[in-house]
Amino acid sequence: MADLRDLLRVRPGTTRLAAVDPGGTPGLPDGEALREDPKQWSTDQVAAIGTDLASYQEKLFASAKHGATAKRIVLVLQAMDCGGKDGTVRAVTRGMNPAGMNAVSFGPPSEEERRHHYLWRIRRALPAPGYVGIFNRSHYEDVLVVRVHELVPPDVWSGRYEEINDFEAEQAADGLTFVKVMLHISREEQKKRLLARLDDPTKYWKYNAGDLDERARWDDYQQAYDDALNRCGTGVAPWYVVPADRKWYRNWAVATLLRAAFADIGPEYPEAGFDVEAERRKLASSP
Ligand code: AMP
Ligand code: MG
Repeated sequence: MADLRDLLRVRPGTTRLAAVDPGGTPGLPDGEALREDPKQWSTDQVAAIGTDLASYQEKLFASAKHGATAKRIVLVLQAMDCGGKDGTVRAVTRGMNPAGMNAVSFGPPSEEERRHHYLWRIRRALPAPGYVGIFNRSHYEDVLVVRVHELVPPDVWSGRYEEINDFEAEQAADGLTFVKVMLHISREEQKKRLLARLDDPTKYWKYNAGDLDERARWDDYQQAYDDALNRCGTGVAPWYVVPADRKWYRNWAVATLLRAAFADIGPEYPEAGFDVEAERRKLASSP
């Protein structure tokens, strides 16, 4: 099977969201179980990948504990409303140890955050060595919602792409692996999911009257996404577009991308920083 990353990676200058089918399922392996029941297949696969993720996570955490590594990883999720960010976070973190993870959601900046540079709150939320970070929205909002709603003038947001690239390059050089994923849903699928929220009192809390206003700006958002993906899909911090109309595919794809990133880091348990045999002898002779 081709590396899923090669299939989903944004190729700056050529990738256009309009050309990516949100209902597509690129890179799936062949197999009977998958053909017979894709949802069950995905549930099983994501559970198996989760076991690998948990193992990688523990090794990463362990190796950072005594300063053996400064490595850390952050999954950045961006999407239109109803794109499935929350569901993806639940699916891919299921097996991981919450103590080694920090999940952060970025909404409109607080008063304090607005007094600082837009990357200030992002820097503060970055995972420490050994940790896995999950960003539900990110600094990319500062070239997405901020651009679409003209919250700052064009000459300000247009300078941010380079600034973001510099920021990410600096972090990558410092041991941070970025896994940047855009969950790509169709306009029709968004309508279905918004309607489903209105049909279910347990989902009202997810609904926001402003969601319809955002939906009306669909094309502006797609354009802003195209620019963010193309300008900030760099060698050190590539962007991936994951077709997300099918939740079972989306979960499998994101889990697979995350596992591949961990495999590249290749965390290992650190050597003992003490004399194991001496400790064993001391313990044996202790009361
Ligand atoms: P939700 O993810 O549904 O909780 O919504 C969070 C909202 O916060 C979205 O409408 C985002 O566009 C908005 N948001 C996130 N970051 C920013 C930002 N830097 N400036 C303005 N709005 C933002
Ligand atoms: Mg929302």
